[in-house]
Amino acid sequence: EKTPVTLLGLGAMGTALARAWLAAGHPLTVWNRTPARAAVLAAEGAHVTASAAEAVAANPLIVVCLLDDDSVGEALTGIDLTGRDLVNLTTSTPAQARARAEWARARGARYLDGGIMAVPPMIGAPEAGGYVFYSGSREVFERHQKTLGVPAGTTYVGQDAGFAALHDVALLSAMYGMFAGAAHAFALIRKEDIDPASLAPLLADWLVAMAPAVHQTADRLRSGDYTQGVVSNLAMQVAGTPTFLSTAEQQGVSPELLSPYFALMRRRLAEGSGEEDLTGVIDLLVR
Ligand code: NDP
Repeated sequence: EKTPVTLLGLGAMGTALARAWLAAGHPLTVWNRTPARAAVLAAEGAHVTASAAEAVAANPLIVVCLLDDDSVGEALTGIDLTGRDLVNLTTSTPAQARARAEWARARGARYLDGGIMAVPPMIGAPEAGGYVFYSGSREVFERHQKTLGVPAGTTYVGQDAGFAALHDVALLSAMYGMFAGAAHAFALIRKEDIDPASLAPLLADWLVAMAPAVHQTADRLRSGDYTQGVVSNLAMQVAGTPTFLSTAEQQGVSPELLSPYFALMRRRLAEGSGEEDLTGVIDLLVR
């Protein structure tokens, strides 16, 4: 009595999702635009349909994992979604997700949006720590949480259909900032007789040690007080920036990843916020 699942989209991610549900014993109906990609899953026990409409008609729970929001619209054009629980794991923007939720409602479906915080090898491997942000219909989330939890963890972030995409992009944006910092760090030692493999563990441990600072940032944003208990104030940190820029220059490294952040720090300082920490930079970004 495992919940039957219909899955549209058998790309790298869709195929990983399909395998996880099959391995857990869920009856699975699949469709893919290019039929050849479904053949291997048929051999593994999936029911393959010739059209998306047939796949949608097969089960109440429809999971979609296609390239982008446009492909979701194309694949589901003209298909009756009445009474379906539509779970869309296709990466989108918050606005696309909200519009897709309206679109689904207008076609009689309940809608849950998802943002996948995992790569295909992490799917069906709980120890890898991958999970999916969900937002939209709480009813759909609660009804199917167990089934949705088979490929990866589930984290519900609210009834606004755009919130899963927003959380997804927020985390990935922070990741790019972290990678940008690491790129600058490696560039600094690139021409020296320092093994990148000896810097890597130091860098990884340092980033992990610094990461909990985000909790303090959140506390400050909530209280509106950016100065209480500040250890390294903005004035001191701005005074230190020439050291970073000179070191980059001495090492023949472009400052282009660091400079924009330093410019924001200086702007905030110029507004008379020298006693704050770095939280005020956030207010400069929000237009
Ligand atoms: P792939 O490029 O491997 O697969 C894309 C899928 O979309 C294929 O099934 C393709 O069908 C289908 N498709 C594309 N355009 C259309 C269309 N117009 N109509 C119908 N089907 C269409 O991508 P992934 O499987 O890797 O990614 C799927 C989603 O998962 C994306 O939104 C991605 O951002 C997200 N994701 C992926 C991650 C990853 O690491 N791979 C990580 C986190 C999220 P066809 O076979 O016919 O081309």
